[in-house]
Amino acid sequence: MATTAVERKLLIGGEWVETGRWIEVLSPYDGALVGRVPKAGRGETRAALDAAEKAMLKPIPAYERAAVLDRVAALLSERADDAARTISSEAGKPMKAARVEASRAVSTFTMAAVEARKLAGDVVPMDASPAGAGKLAFTLREPIGIVGAISPFNFPLNLVAHKVASALAAGCAVVLKPASQTPLSALFLAELETEAGLPAGWLNVVCGPAGEIGDVLVEDERVRLITFTGSVPIGWKLRERAPRKRVNLELGNATPVIVAADADLDDAAERLAANAFSFAGQSCISVQRIYLERSSYDDFLERFLPRVEALVVGDPADEATDVGPLISSSDRDRILAWIEEAESSGGKVLTGGKLDGELLLPTVIAGSPPDAKVACEEVFGPLCTVTPFDTLDEAIALANSTRFGLQAGIFTRDVKDALRAARALEFGGVTVNEAPTFRADQMPYGGIKDSGNTREGPAYAVREMTEERLVVLQL
Ligand code: NAP
Repeated sequence: MATTAVERKLLIGGEWVETGRWIEVLSPYDGALVGRVPKAGRGETRAALDAAEKAMLKPIPAYERAAVLDRVAALLSERADDAARTISSEAGKPMKAARVEASRAVSTFTMAAVEARKLAGDVVPMDASPAGAGKLAFTLREPIGIVGAISPFNFPLNLVAHKVASALAAGCAVVLKPASQTPLSALFLAELETEAGLPAGWLNVVCGPAGEIGDVLVEDERVRLITFTGSVPIGWKLRERAPRKRVNLELGNATPVIVAADADLDDAAERLAANAFSFAGQSCISVQRIYLERSSYDDFLERFLPRVEALVVGDPADEATDVGPLISSSDRDRILAWIEEAESSGGKVLTGGKLDGELLLPTVIAGSPPDAKVACEEVFGPLCTVTPFDTLDEAIALANSTRFGLQAGIFTRDVKDALRAARALEFGGVTVNEAPTFRADQMPYGGIKDSGNTREGPAYAVREMTEERLVVLQL
């Protein structure tokens, strides 16, 4: 191994474990070896479930769970620079964006600590009906059981944080399978959790073949909830395979935004240029489809294209970089093929559309038909389309025209139009005068349609990770 590469071990039942088999983690920027982690299979995953089951036999009181979560937040805050470097090296995420992710993960733990402290049921107004009169009833929120967590490559720290911090707040032990391309951030976080005093077995991390580990999480009845963030087909397939478990899905999007002629065009251009291309568009809510009111189409592009061209494309370790590599060369080639398809069906590349060395330049395409892949599938790359519209109803219909429904946005100065769009856009969230890429970690975040079936954010995830138990007392 290169001297700068790190070696981390799996965490099972409080022990750091090797398996004798390894997964190599390579830089998406230059292919350098960044680190390696042991490869787990079915046996290690079952051992992790045994450890989680044993841990849950001795519940941790809420105040202690909250204290651990607060200590993780403090440790993560102290080590934010290491966290950002780990994210950047394995995911190829520019340092600017990696630092934001590290600081957001601190907030996620802080908010989960709050949820642990206030986790409680409700009082049921029993004398509201003749049947209930003379009785007292309330609900308890009990941990659902072991949580199986599967996370994607693109937010390798904060999306792991959402799953493990919320589960601990709810009183559930976790078996986590991070993305094979980015396991180092998850294991870095696991180290901080043990340093923060998390007792053995509450967090177990196994890296390895998704099929094998996924099969165990699906088949083992002790796993009561699977929380999955990743791509659409894999997510829905998992849910089909586990009909008796709660399977919470946070999936993809082809994020639309409407820009009305009355919007502050400079502000919209600034926000959209940053949010269509940051981390090379590899966010589930990266701006992908921009719908522009025809009368201000040219005015917007005059402001937008120079900003896109000013983005710094390069080495993610460089603090000045805005746009780095895609996670793999096959993703880069897929997107190049989609650009070709858009061009051959009438689309025009306004900027980008080609490589600078190995990196795909930020690309803007006009005039692609609605059935071109760039206009209806999730690109997950540094690419957006621009399309004119004449009426707000038409823009809303275009925005709603894909199978996705995670977040959408509108820029307008007209409050009535903003609220009309907020009602009519079929998405889990709608931003007004902000790019739909915006997320703060306390928000209820999640999609409808193919984009998912749940809301993340500690307050919401904790509800999902607990069962409501009714207690009725005859007075
Ligand atoms: P992915 O290929 O679906 O992988 C996500 C996770 O699923 C990885 O840990 C992967 O493991 C695992 N996996 C793959 N096949 C599996 C199987 N058969 N059973 C169980 N687990 C399996 O997604 P990705 O490329 O990492 O991430 C990009 C996608 O995630 C995009 O579609 C993006 O929109 C979505 N995303 C959604 C959100 C949200 O909150 N809605 C946030 C971020 C990303 P391996 O790595 O070992 O293959």
